[in-house]
Amino acid sequence: MDAGSAGATDDYGRLTPSDYLRLRRVAARLSIAEAADRLVDRRADHRRAVEFLRRLETPGRTALYRSTIEHLLQAFPFDPDVYWQLAEEPLDRHPRICRRCGCSAHDRCADGEGGACRWVEQNDCSTCSEGGPACA
Ligand SMILES: [Zn+2]
Ligand SMILES: [Zn+2]
Repeated sequence: MDAGSAGATDDYGRLTPSDYLRLRRVAARLSIAEAADRLVDRRADHRRAVEFLRRLETPGRTALYRSTIEHLLQAFPFDPDVYWQLAEEPLDRHPRICRRCGCSAHDRCADGEGGACRWVEQNDCSTCSEGGPACA
């Protein structure tokens, strides 16, 4: 998908479950390796956790089990309901999600002042439109 003009995909406004997880991981400022660190206690399990995360972020892949996605919450915040809605519901029932950071109704960005982000456009939250996640 990097090279030239690939045929039209359904990327217009449609977010896949794998995209969603990647957006949320990046919004938490974690690399895959860092996210994997949070999933395992033992160094020996690290490589498997990395593969696990890569698989979940592979376009077209969807987790099979709810427990898999619940487990991921140990690595970074996201909304499991959003994940499953993206995976299982028709497009017109997908939740509203910021296309830049992946935040959604029950998983808002902190605005740095104790509040949360707002919608600025259909798929764009105030944190992102004001120049990215607020840092102290
Ligand atoms: Zn955003
Ligand atoms: Zn936001």
